[in-house]
Amino acid sequence: MYEELPWDDDIRSFRESRSRLFRLEFMRTEDGVPEGLRSYFLRLSREHMVSPRRLMKKVLADEVPELASILSNRFFVKDAGPIDGLGKYARIFSETINQLTSRDDLQDLTLLKWMPVLPKNGEGILARYPRWCPICYLEQRIKGVSTFAPLSWSLRLYQTCTKHFVQLLERCPGCSRHQPFISSFPNIGRCGYCGRSLSDVVCADTLPVNVDVELALESMARNSQSPAKVSLEYFCSNVRTAIAVHAQDNKALFCRQMGWDNWTANAWLSKGHKPSLPSLLALAIACGVDVFDLCSQNLDFFYRPATQCGARMRSRVCRAPRPFLRHTNWDEVFDLLTTELHHNSAKTVNELGRRVRLRRSALKYWFPEVCGQISERYRKQKKMTASIAIDYRRGVLESVLGSLAVHRVPPFRRVVDKFLKQHGLALARPELAKVYYQYLVVHGFVEPT
Ligand SMILES: [Zn+2]
Ligand SMILES: [Zn+2]
Repeated sequence: MYEELPWDDDIRSFRESRSRLFRLEFMRTEDGVPEGLRSYFLRLSREHMVSPRRLMKKVLADEVPELASILSNRFFVKDAGPIDGLGKYARIFSETINQLTSRDDLQDLTLLKWMPVLPKNGEGILARYPRWCPICYLEQRIKGVSTFAPLSWSLRLYQTCTKHFVQLLERCPGCSRHQPFISSFPNIGRCGYCGRSLSDVVCADTLPVNVDVELALESMARNSQSPAKVSLEYFCSNVRTAIAVHAQDNKALFCRQMGWDNWTANAWLSKGHKPSLPSLLALAIACGVDVFDLCSQNLDFFYRPATQCGARMRSRVCRAPRPFLRHTNWDEVFDLLTTELHHNSAKTVNELGRRVRLRRSALKYWFPEVCGQISERYRKQKKMTASIAIDYRRGVLESVLGSLAVHRVPPFRRVVDKFLKQHGLALARPELAKVYYQYLVVHGFVEPT
């Protein structure tokens, strides 16, 4: 019989206080920019010597069941970028990894702090693919520190490394492929496909370029840990002051100086809209103030805005100008969309847009309600078609199994597959595998597990 010892309580509380994953410290650049949460997670997997995808599926999804449905191959390759952003993924992943590592500061490795000021799905916030500065990676390797990607690299407008003045890369030097956001290999410095080192590049000599935007983005990332809060109120109050000082309270004039549409500032000041990231940066750079200060305190000093700064910034995001619809066109397009709603064949907004030579985003901007209904109808129809197809495939399998039973042929997998192949089907399909297994159990060919 085990007798309780005086230190047993301490051991028990020590065991309970242990975190499930290592309490890994996060990395910073020399300028104090923290790494992104994605980079932190990849290094965490490396410390545990497991594949990052496996760690997500087995440990993170175990902690938050909601994640299990998100963690598909597509998510790992294309959709995991927003982990560093300011939306739902950033919140869920930072909270979960905080919990697993017993930390409380991993939200600082995302842009969540900027949520009050920036729109969640704002234009040009996050990069479409993982990007890196090969010389930074090389320096990290030489220093012997683990390879990491600063949070600022996740921002789409960040294009040039402020230390080495080289363009960030987004394709592997070996296989020329874009990198998956969450690779199956736990090293952010190696290609997720061919394994080649991503710092393995000969960089051409570079000329100093203007990196104002990159420096402003670094300030955003660096201040994610600052105790001061950013708010739309501070931003609006500073915009009002700048307009009063430099445009005699004339909002439209101020916007024209910046190279924006006349009503841009009015949307923030009167309608409570949030500024896009390019507009926010353009304003901070043009007025010579720090972007974090612009949103976290009342400033009383602004330079006269450099003219057309906003327009130049917009060109960085490569956003096509939104087409302007005349009244006659407006009616025509509206008629087309509403008639389409009563048609039998459900078309996508994209297909309809092609007919009138407008992009999907433009249609959704001008006709949000009808476009919403069209998309909803398309989704419903697609779902219905998919369920009819599943019923058909099940029917084929059931008739194959029925025929085999009539001719007293045992339903071996190989035999069933041979007959299914004539219909272009195979037991590899999950829904067919399920029906097949149930058949085997019901007819006593296998024991239920
Ligand atoms: Zn660099
Ligand atoms: Zn490669």
